[in-house]
Amino acid sequence: MAGAYAGKKPGPLPPGTADFYSDMKSKPSREMREAAMDAPLGDEQKGEDPTTTELHERVARLLGKEDALFMPSATMTNEIAVAIHCQPGDEIIVERSSHLVNFEAGAPGMLAGVQTQMLDGANGMFSAEQVAAAIRPKGNLYIPETGLVVVEQTTNMGGGAVWPLQQMREVAAVARQAGIATHLDGARLMNAVVKTGISAEDYAQGYDSVTFCFTKALGCPFGALLVGSEEFIQRAWRLRQLLGGGLRQSGFMAALCLYALDHNVERLADDHRRAGQIASTLRGLDLVERVLPAETNIVIFDISRDGPTAAELVDRLLSQGFLVGAFGERRIRIVTHIGVDQSDTNRLCDELKVLLSTG
Ligand SMILES: *Cc1c(COP(=O)(O)O)cnc(C)c1O
Repeated sequence: MAGAYAGKKPGPLPPGTADFYSDMKSKPSREMREAAMDAPLGDEQKGEDPTTTELHERVARLLGKEDALFMPSATMTNEIAVAIHCQPGDEIIVERSSHLVNFEAGAPGMLAGVQTQMLDGANGMFSAEQVAAAIRPKGNLYIPETGLVVVEQTTNMGGGAVWPLQQMREVAAVARQAGIATHLDGARLMNAVVKTGISAEDYAQGYDSVTFCFTKALGCPFGALLVGSEEFIQRAWRLRQLLGGGLRQSGFMAALCLYALDHNVERLADDHRRAGQIASTLRGLDLVERVLPAETNIVIFDISRDGPTAAELVDRLLSQGFLVGAFGERRIRIVTHIGVDQSDTNRLCDELKVLLSTG
């Protein structure tokens, strides 16, 4: 599973390229930048940065948890959660296509000393029955202990699929009954919230910790939060310092995140509508084998055998001014976000019709 950039160091894109590679590519708007100018600042690591403290409180409240901690990235956030929940030698239950096992550079093994048991889900989502079958018996000399179950909402490589609330609750309940911790990788949790109208707190309920990311769909240049109980977050402060992720005048970045919570959430519906438009365009093209459901802002599809390879399509689209991602021999990912608009979407759809039709 390799991205378009696999193996080579990325360079600057041709000017004017509409970047549908990922929602992480969005740039802060002028208004967002201005929100940081007058933010009160201090040394965050000493608890003296009021803007970051406000963000901690606001996100903790949003998710119905006791406490939160600002982090440089969602990757560090996930990995600190794994390290706190588990003992070295434990096993974590996670979906095969998840960000945690595919795009975090092997950190669960290295930083937390855990191994993974990967479940084959449907569009990145697994069932409570699968979890129950995967949990290891306790107290056996030979067998690793299960330390954590991780759920990703929305699923990234599952095509932005939204876990049904009921299914998330059943998974959490099975883990809880077995005394196993649960972590919600909610890098795109607000996409699910805007799509379904179910609150972030409802989705987080029953999960011991949550990763909440600001650099994806919310359009910020920096930051994620780890959210959980007071005791859990106390431990996270120490691990963040250990990894060199301690922050100083981070209110400058936290102000951008506060701005995003006020201004960039409801607009996610536009991203979802545009992704839906791209998906339905693709469904009508004869060189497209299949399109994953595209419920939120991610469109994943497979090119048929008669069509170009994914790498060829990426190159052809790039020469027409569009960047998309190749994630496999025939698999393409397109992501809508605040940095691409309706006109970019219309032009991309027109170009896809040209490149993926036989007629
Ligand atoms: C991008 C992503 C992350 C990591 O985010 P960074 O802030 O770039 O480290 C974690 N989980 C999921 C599901 C993601 O899509």
